[in-house]
This record gives sequence, C-alpha cells and structure tokens, in this order.
Amino acid sequence: MHQPLHSTDVTSQVHPYTNLALHETAGPMVISKGEGVFVYDDKGNKYLEGLAGLFCASLGFSNSRLADAADRQMRQLPFYHSFGHKANEPAILLAEKLLAMAPVPMSKVFFANSGSEANDTAIKLVWYYNNALGRPAKKKIIARSRGYHGVTIASASLTGLPNNHRDFDLPIDRILHTDCPHYWRHGLPGESEEDFATRCADSLEQLILREGPDTIAAFFAEPIMVSGGVIVPPRTYFAKVQAVLRKYDILLVADEVICGFARTGNMFGTETFGMHPDMITCAKQLSAGYLPISALMVNEAIYQAMLAESRKIGTFGHGFTYSGHPVAAAVALETLKIYEEENILEHVRSVIPHFQQRLQALGSHPLVGEARGHGLLGAVELVADRETKAPFAPELGMAARAGTAALSHGIITRALGDTVNMCPPLIITRQEIDMLFDGIEGALDDTHSLAQ
Ligand code: PLP
Repeated sequence: MHQPLHSTDVTSQVHPYTNLALHETAGPMVISKGEGVFVYDDKGNKYLEGLAGLFCASLGFSNSRLADAADRQMRQLPFYHSFGHKANEPAILLAEKLLAMAPVPMSKVFFANSGSEANDTAIKLVWYYNNALGRPAKKKIIARSRGYHGVTIASASLTGLPNNHRDFDLPIDRILHTDCPHYWRHGLPGESEEDFATRCADSLEQLILREGPDTIAAFFAEPIMVSGGVIVPPRTYFAKVQAVLRKYDILLVADEVICGFARTGNMFGTETFGMHPDMITCAKQLSAGYLPISALMVNEAIYQAMLAESRKIGTFGHGFTYSGHPVAAAVALETLKIYEEENILEHVRSVIPHFQQRLQALGSHPLVGEARGHGLLGAVELVADRETKAPFAPELGMAARAGTAALSHGIITRALGDTVNMCPPLIITRQEIDMLFDGIEGALDDTHSLAQ
C-alpha cells in the first residue's frame, strides 16, 4: 500500500537536510499520524518523538484546541495580509500578547513565517538602524561558530556550521564568527568554567578590536546553541559577553527560535541566562509547530529608527505575503493561551529534574564523552576515546547510526554532528521520559556492540 508513495517520493521530492544520493536507495520514512508525544509511520509503527518534530511540537501531535482554532479562523477569514495598513484580529492580539510576555521591554512585533525569515529581518533592521543613526560603516554582524540561525542567504551566513556554507558560496561579507562556548570541548586543562567564559569574551573583544569597533553592529546568539549540539553557555558567559557588547555599542539579538516558550524552564532562554537583547526572534513553539509563523520583537530604540527611515523613504519597504497570516496567528494565540491555562511552565519545571537525571546517567556509557543539557533539552556527544575526548572519524557516522538504532527502540531522535539530541514535546510525562531514555540507552548499546 505504501510502496507507490515511497517510490513517488523518491522520484518527485527534494528533502531538506538529507543525503540526496542515499535517499534514492533508502527512500522516505512516511509519518502518517500523531497522538500525544507519539507519531506513527505508514506501516503502523509507533515512535516517541524525542525531538518534538524539529524542536517545535511542544503540545504533541493531537491537540484538538489548536485544530479547532485553525478551523474557526479558516471559516471566518482564511487569509488577509498586513501590507498598507491592513490588519486582522488574530495578528493584532498575538502581537499584544507577545509584548506582554517579552522577557525584556519590547516595543513592536513583526511577523514572518520561519525562524530564518525572522533572523533575516533582524539583520536588515540592524543595517537600517545604523543608517538611521548616520553610522553607515557600523554594519558587521558577529555570530558564533556552531550557532544555528537558519538557511536563507543572510541567516545561513550567521549559522556557524560548515555544511550550511560549503559550496553555497557563503557566508556573505559583513558576517563574522567568534568562538563556540563549549567548555567541555574547548576549555583548557585546569581552566575553570568561569575562566573559560572570560576567555570567550576576551576573544570576542579581540575580534571587535581587529575589525574596528565602529564597524561592528550586532551580535546574534541562541541562549543555548541547540542545532550545534546543545551547547549550554558556561557560567558567567552572557554577563561577560554583554559587557563587551555594551562597551562598543553593539546590539544583541537573542535567537529564541528553539529556547522560547518554556523549553529551558523559563518562558524565554533570555531569562534563564540573564540576557538583555535589543531584538528577539521566535518561531517553532510559538504555534506548537502546527502552522508556520515567526515573530521578531524590536525594542523602542530600533522602532524609533524604523519610524525615522519610514518618514524619510515613505514606507517600511519590507514584508512577506504571509506576515501576520490570520490562521497561523490564531493558532499561535491559542498555543500561548494553552501554555498559560494549562500552566506549561509548572509542568516543565516538574519533569526537568527527572529528564536531566536520566540524561546525566547516560554520561557513563562507554560511547559517551559528555552528556549535557538544560531544561528539556539534552544531548550526548559520542567519542572514540573517553579519556582523550577523541571524536569518531566522521565517515563512521556514529551519531547517525545511534539515531537509526533508536528507531528500532521506538524513539525518533536526531543526530547533529557527533551528538544524539533530545528535545521532547513539553507535555511529556515522567513515564514517557523513561521510555525516551530507555530507548536511547538501548540504541547506544546496539551502536556500541556493532562498533566492537
Ligand atoms: N534559529 C534557530 C535557533 C533554529 O534552531 C532554527 C531552526 O532550527 C532557525 C533559526 C531557523 O528556523 P526555520 O527552520 O524556521 O527557518
């Protein structure tokens, strides 16, 4: 029954983040149904979604309130745009709600459809802002090695992962990268976590001084670098980095696309790590992944610059057909209501200790160099030698093998580089957390015995 669908997929669809050559022989895994934290493939196999899809399905895969909200809005007004003064009720209310929830004072919200678009918009506003202030040379942006900010030309340039640049002729100019703050991998022998954070901030300052502080406009950071392998910032990191940014009048953009909405145990990762951003991007859990929508929040200073440019030019020359799409906005608004009414923060906080305890226990597995995480985020980094931390040869694809092995234990996870990652729906129960970690442990055992 499923075979024609599988072969049609191979002959007709290009898959993102997939080895296209391998796909021609391996074919797709077709997911056909969702229920709570579980999904089913078209052969009827059931899997616990250990990554909430792509870090987004916070409320699982069968929330009927969200389906109803979409249905109601589809019948009331399925589409309208926000260009030229037009507005729709869900987008207005969603903007109001986001400003009320913002972890630091924010002035306005601009809607887009994806994390990449929100970050691209933030980059354009960094440039717009400095033009409005009469600082045309202050345009370079610093992101971090192993950071992830998306795949459009500018956001992929911010992303600090080699496969997003290689042979795509990226990054574009004016985008620079500073160190990945991964203490376990990059800390020196005898160096404390705090000293490592000082070294990262010093290295950022050296980069700024080399380039010229008058040319550096902004710094983009995820509170936790998730796609880079769940890199939790070392203690004191953001305090030290922000002191450097303030010294040279450099904007901070917090990319909350994954950390936003309770993932780290607070509504925003910004709160968890004491960040004071000038702009915040969010997406994914904003709509529980049910419809594409992203938001960029800007503070008053940025908004005043946008106003000044608008007066000068006659318009704000930016926007997407689907900015503030009423159905996506209605679903996002309902998502935020559910987070509040069902007190998602309290639930997340109640299961975090168990999640983190099971995660830490994986740290003694013979394949694992480091088990790390925060909130409901976790990763294990696989190493060939636990003493020296030597990685496996990339061509062995050990983490990918563990990810494949997890499927036979009923778990979907994702290998990112040398890590196997966990980011389950926020509604996961303690018992389901045990299923997740039992499955991952089984997958690591299988991978280990195959490697012997
Ligand atoms: N920023 C972060 C932190 C992300 O994790 C992602 C996607 O995973 C993006 C931006 C890009 O979002 P999208 O895939 O919706 O363009």
